[in-house]
Amino acid sequence: MAYWSDYSYVSAAEKKAIAKRAIDKRKKGGLQPQPVVITGRGIAKSFWGKGWCDHLESFSDYSNRLPRGRTYARNGSVCHLEVGAGVVKALVAGSSLYEVDVKIEPLADEAWEKVKSDCSGQIGTLVELLMGKISEEVMSIVSDRHTGLFPKPKEIRFDCDCPDGARMCKHIAAVLYGVGSRLDESPELLFVLRGVDAEELIKVEFSQTVERGEDDLPDEVLSDIFGIDLEFDLDRVLRETRIELTSGRDVAELRGRLGLSLEEFAARVGYAESTCRRWEASQELKIGKKARGVLEGLLE
Ligand SMILES: [Zn+2]
Repeated sequence: MAYWSDYSYVSAAEKKAIAKRAIDKRKKGGLQPQPVVITGRGIAKSFWGKGWCDHLESFSDYSNRLPRGRTYARNGSVCHLEVGAGVVKALVAGSSLYEVDVKIEPLADEAWEKVKSDCSGQIGTLVELLMGKISEEVMSIVSDRHTGLFPKPKEIRFDCDCPDGARMCKHIAAVLYGVGSRLDESPELLFVLRGVDAEELIKVEFSQTVERGEDDLPDEVLSDIFGIDLEFDLDRVLRETRIELTSGRDVAELRGRLGLSLEEFAARVGYAESTCRRWEASQELKIGKKARGVLEGLLE
């Protein structure tokens, strides 16, 4: 008779039931669970998600302890995981439902400035950055083990309320893998977690060029840089005034300023290409509150 496997089967089911009861109770208190769901073979697949896991596994302080969280992360034990600025809060099912807090220091200002200047002009759009459609060089800058965006062990503090929680228990390890999985879906959370604005990686070279151009460069050089007719377009590019979103032309101008193709623009705002084309073609811009909010967000 396979007593042991019978016993562990029941025990696993019981753990699940305990977790479910505890989660249901928290739901009544307002929790909206964001469970970590891992399908397929690895924990994470994307540049950012896999990069996160590989990075943490590369440190000897972690390499021994992290693997104990793999099964937990994969079998759905991380019932809830939310990422905020400098913090990850999670609930992990074990013999009880354990609370795990992970605190991560913000990326140091100097480190962020260096990443920005090293990447300057090499990242086309935010969408490309987040999708990991970036050059090998940019990849190596942002994922550099020491000077990149992923946190180093000394920048990470963690706590779990299980009896083993002083060290990196399997619940904490599962949560760290859970973050990797979450970055597959929401890579922007890495920037939230490190307290930096991903858009600054896109804007850098443009603003530097404009500033330098205004002060030092004669018009004909500027004309070469921008490849446009200065009389008309440069004035428009440099204009500080906000675009009032009243007509389709305003949307087209906004897209022009951002230097995005229609396809990229659509991806950036999260609307269909056909919708964006319709906006641009319209005389009087009639869009919903939500879409207007998104577009105005791009003007900031
Ligand atoms: Zn624990």
